[in-house]
Amino acid sequence: MNAVTQSASKTCSLCSGKGYIQLLLGGSETCPSCGGTGKADRSFSSR
Ligand SMILES: [Zn+2]
Repeated sequence: MNAVTQSASKTCSLCSGKGYIQLLLGGSETCPSCGGTGKADRSFSSR
């Protein structure tokens, strides 16, 4: 049986599930990948 249980919902790899990304110059910005939800269940169609 599958005993390995990963997070129920996929976590956005871009923001690590935080919903925002840290800018190098300082401050933070809403993650453009997940839109601030921190989840990657809704993946935008790859262009
Ligand atoms: Zn994200």
